[in-house]
Amino acid sequence: MTRSANLGFPRIGAHRELKKATEAYWRGDADLASLEAAGTELRATHWKLQKSAGIETIPSGDFSFYDQVLDMTAMLGAVPPRFGHDGGTVDLDTYFAMARGADDAPAMEMTKWFDTNYHYIVPEFHGGQRFSVSSTKAVDEFKEAKALGIHTRPVLIGPVTYLSLGKVKGAALDPLSLLGRLLPSYLELLSRLKEAGADWVQIDEPILVLDLSDGQRDALRTAYDALADARIRIMLATYFGGLRDNTGLAVRLPVAGLHIDLIRGPDQLGAVLQELGREQILSLGIVDGRNVWRADLAACLTTVESAVAALDAERVQVAPSCSLLHTPVDLDNETRLDEELKSWMAFAKQKLGEVAILAQTARGDGDAFASTFAASENAKDTRKSSPRIHDPDVKARADGVTEADHSRQSPFPARHEFQRAHIDLPPFPTTTIGSFPQTGEVRKTRAAFKRGDLGEAEYDAFLQIETEKTIRLQEKLGLDVLVHGEFERNDMVEYFGEQLRGFAFTQNGWVQSYGSRYVKPPVIFGDVSRPQPMTVKWSAYAQSLTDHPVKGMLTGPVTMLQWSFVRDDQPRSETCKQIALAIRDEVLDLEQSGIRIIQIDEPAFREGLPLRRADWEEYLRWAVDSFRLAASPVADATQIHTHMCYSEFNDIMPSIAALDADVISIETSRSDMELLDAFVDFEYPNEIGPGVWDIHSPRVPSTQEMQALLAKATKVIPPKQLWVNPDCGLKTRGWKEVEPSLSHMVEAARSMRGAPM
Ligand code: GLN
Ligand code: ZN
Repeated sequence: MTRSANLGFPRIGAHRELKKATEAYWRGDADLASLEAAGTELRATHWKLQKSAGIETIPSGDFSFYDQVLDMTAMLGAVPPRFGHDGGTVDLDTYFAMARGADDAPAMEMTKWFDTNYHYIVPEFHGGQRFSVSSTKAVDEFKEAKALGIHTRPVLIGPVTYLSLGKVKGAALDPLSLLGRLLPSYLELLSRLKEAGADWVQIDEPILVLDLSDGQRDALRTAYDALADARIRIMLATYFGGLRDNTGLAVRLPVAGLHIDLIRGPDQLGAVLQELGREQILSLGIVDGRNVWRADLAACLTTVESAVAALDAERVQVAPSCSLLHTPVDLDNETRLDEELKSWMAFAKQKLGEVAILAQTARGDGDAFASTFAASENAKDTRKSSPRIHDPDVKARADGVTEADHSRQSPFPARHEFQRAHIDLPPFPTTTIGSFPQTGEVRKTRAAFKRGDLGEAEYDAFLQIETEKTIRLQEKLGLDVLVHGEFERNDMVEYFGEQLRGFAFTQNGWVQSYGSRYVKPPVIFGDVSRPQPMTVKWSAYAQSLTDHPVKGMLTGPVTMLQWSFVRDDQPRSETCKQIALAIRDEVLDLEQSGIRIIQIDEPAFREGLPLRRADWEEYLRWAVDSFRLAASPVADATQIHTHMCYSEFNDIMPSIAALDADVISIETSRSDMELLDAFVDFEYPNEIGPGVWDIHSPRVPSTQEMQALLAKATKVIPPKQLWVNPDCGLKTRGWKEVEPSLSHMVEAARSMRGAPM
């Protein structure tokens, strides 16, 4: 019989219970027992919720106090030596120390999980690395569920994905070379699970959707040949893309089942059906685990039925495309979204209902669900025609965009002359990235305004005072290009989204970003347009206070797209273009109001890159076009800046240059200017501000340190092209670090000006 299955449920709790419990423990306000109890309760709630949603194959082990990759690290005993682990069971304090650092042991590195906004703790190995099963988490949670009457399918991250995501420190060693030492521990984990009564395990190998090296292909074959000895049935889960050229490899691994992502890779179904082994079970990832929209049940059912026709009902499972970790928990908790918007959406709990109904309908007991199918049909129809979604003016405007709309009037060298004449700046001009400290008072006042406890006039008066103080401070410090400080902004995407048509905001739509940090992404549901100016008031006010140029601050279209849930009824590129047009209007209004320098932040530009190389070019084309569309309507004399945070630029340098920003500021101080190399090798033609102050640390850098970084930069970039700025915005810093640090930065810049250019 066709079964319903889930790959993972969000662990954070519908009301962020996990955050509250872990943070209370970290603060010392709660003991270990109460933290453990909170975990037990969340797991029980989530298992029962999945059961009552009608899910037949329910995962266990998907719960985590911090991160599922770190859980594997603990289970495999791969604790880096600096955490002083003695080889026994890895306790929760050691676990948290790895994630967050301890007194003299810096935290392990963290990075993005594939193309999601979830961050995992990077496994860290050394040349003499040994593994041994050092936590019974997987077995314990299986038993815990069993005691509640729920027979689960435990989840592990597969050995090849696990090693591939890791790094060997201090030795030039491929992490995959550790596979032979690692596999016995996996075998032991599997046999312990089997002993506890598990008949299936889900092993996640999302690397199967990437471009694989020969080494990785070999490792996959070796690993699964070895794991077959455990004699437990393995559901090999792939997600975040199609298998493409790895299809043959995946279906020939000796596993009992294969899960594929039919949202990201809908066209892989035919090939997989054809190549799948005779006995293998296919899990169809057909309900989108990465977005918030209600599924088109009729279309899903057609797919399920085609698989059933090809394989037989027993060999088909219905599931979300990937773990539901990446979706908010429960739409029922949204009381402020209107009913129509809600009728278009589904969060984790609702998605499981969809999965269950699809499986039951495929088995022939669909009659009971006529109303759900009707609701799905209705959502599809109304989304096609709703005037809230479709704005003919926006579409006409987007369709009418021409090649010329993507270009400034003159090429950079000519613009540069105009800008010099128009904006009086010394060599090594100093500036900041935009935000100044968001103090408790700033946050409190904004919260009071949002609640309605503070009137608009009072709130504005408060913001005016903060802005003026910040302008005066920058003047006193001797900065050249000033900013207004962004005190009116909560978040760089939300602030704009709230003022744009086509965006909606949830109350509880949290998803885990890392550890106890959750984000609440905006939802882009319709055509995007800008009813009125969004930032002109504050930029113009700040400019009215000073003769120095004040830089206008905008968030770029790619970043807004990347950090939101986006509509699935048109290509991402189209949505991005619409946002770009809205920003373009803002850029023009800023210029009109007398702002001579405008910064369009694109910190998420690189993270939008598709997982497969073959898809990069297309993405880069529309991403660059969107930025240029937003940035290019201004006169040559108006200077456009952009800003990007910590990222590797080497492989996308031509696209960075193609943005054609007059000035780019990038985060470089943490890497000791290493990230600048890409700009050097490429001979980046425009101006550039390599960050000289690591704003992620409370440390106040000295003038000498910043001078040294600048000196390093001048060795490789012509001094005429250089700007002086911090790595990123200052909103997370305190005033007592900001003042001296900026003062040192200005001093460092001034000292550079003395040198011959
Ligand atoms: N202008 C933004 C700020 O200063 C940029 C933030 C970012 O790069 N993430 O806060
Ligand atoms: Zn930044």
